[in-house]
Amino acid sequence: MNIPFAKVSMAGNELKYITEVLKSGWLTTSSKAFQFEKLFADIVGAKYACTVSSCTAALHLAVEAIGIKTGDKVLVPSLTFTATAEVLRYIGADPVFMDVEYGTSLISPALLRKSLKANPDIKAIIIVHYGGQSPVMTSSDGEGIIDICRQNNIRVIEDAAHAFPTKFGNRFIGTFGDVTCFSFYANKTITTGEGGMLVTDDENIYKRAKTMRLHGINRDVWERFTSNKSSWEYDIIAPGFKYNMPDINAAVGLAQLEKADYFRDQRQRCASYYLHEFERIHVIDLPVCIGPIENHSWHLFPVTIRTEAPVSRNEFIIQMGQAGIGTSVHYKPLHRMTYYKETYNLNPDDFPNTERIWNGTVSLPIFPDLTNRELEYICQTTKRILLNNGV
Ligand SMILES: *Cc1c(COP(=O)(O)O)cnc(C)c1O
Repeated sequence: MNIPFAKVSMAGNELKYITEVLKSGWLTTSSKAFQFEKLFADIVGAKYACTVSSCTAALHLAVEAIGIKTGDKVLVPSLTFTATAEVLRYIGADPVFMDVEYGTSLISPALLRKSLKANPDIKAIIIVHYGGQSPVMTSSDGEGIIDICRQNNIRVIEDAAHAFPTKFGNRFIGTFGDVTCFSFYANKTITTGEGGMLVTDDENIYKRAKTMRLHGINRDVWERFTSNKSSWEYDIIAPGFKYNMPDINAAVGLAQLEKADYFRDQRQRCASYYLHEFERIHVIDLPVCIGPIENHSWHLFPVTIRTEAPVSRNEFIIQMGQAGIGTSVHYKPLHRMTYYKETYNLNPDDFPNTERIWNGTVSLPIFPDLTNRELEYICQTTKRILLNNGV
């Protein structure tokens, strides 16, 4: 067998919608992107959605739009992809890295309180919905992540690159924080090849992001001050970026959106299969669900190989590869990356849970088209490696 770590599903209306774009003669941001924005906003229950060229672009626009400035400090979990932190450096702000919980791999209210106590000058936080699960956002006792941020006057950006469609309680991720950023990169839960979406309920953030998405061009401002609205004339209100999403990509996104529920259900089938099969294997720790399994988008299925296992994580990855099974690691933490380590003088001892996760974690294949026969093979191979090796 040969099972890749990830595989896109493109069996819907992708080609049909792309063809419509090609025939329209208008390839850049237009009606398909606007439709995609409208549908996406409706699904997550947000007022505004803004298509962009990547989640990294969305995060950059988000940080800019909420007014983060040079020298501002922003909390970021160390267990994430570099995009979460690098966008702060784009504008000269500084990431302050924090540990996550073992089990969920998410930031927790307790860890947040601890980080805020140690860094009273924090301006904002970027929450990462690791693997597709949300941390406790709100709580009736005021101890949810959002509650704590509001109490401390901290702006909230959500890196929801893994988290569509994810819920906390009965609400979709998208409107808990000030602004939420989704990824449609090739291996994410729905894809446009490359692409992202910025979502918010805040009109000012939306307007700023929309303007900065395309060179800082603002027709609204111009029209406010002129009586004869010439369509060729516009104003530039800031040195913006080139972050818009072409309609060809949006066409793929629209088709993917139609199947998002089906995709999610299929990934849950895979997750349930793994959770059941590995229930009694004590040398691995399974991902911990803090809410109903249906609230999780299951972008990833990471397991942590314990130190008492007969093989190390690295050896496990090699043996899985020899058996034709693709795996990956999420993530080598940012405090171990040369740039962040040296710039911020970071010490692994300050991230004990993240270190434990990093040392043992491996992500198993999880995608809609993964068959039960393939799942059975992955589980048998995992058990062979972890239970029989050298025993
Ligand atoms: C993929 C990813 C991103 C970046 O998404 P792009 O669309 O590739 O820019 C950001 N954060 C996390 C956690 C990711 O996994």
